[in-house]
Amino acid sequence: MRIAADREVCTSAGMCALTAPGRFDQDEADGRVVLLDADAPDGDPEALAAAELCPSGAITLTDL
Ligand code: SF4
Repeated sequence: MRIAADREVCTSAGMCALTAPGRFDQDEADGRVVLLDADAPDGDPEALAAAELCPSGAITLTDL
């Protein structure tokens, strides 16, 4: 799957970086999401959890 993170929608909650630290980080300046790795295996549990837990819906997953 392909991961996308919309920084315009992100509210800097940080759940993604806590849930999947290898895939997401937070910008030191504004706390918004930084996508570290956009490619994940289909059904990747960390990516699914991060998308589900993000309170702003900023993370979207697309099956390739
Ligand atoms: S969980 Fe969502 S709102 Fe929070 S930092 Fe990550 S993308 Fe942004």
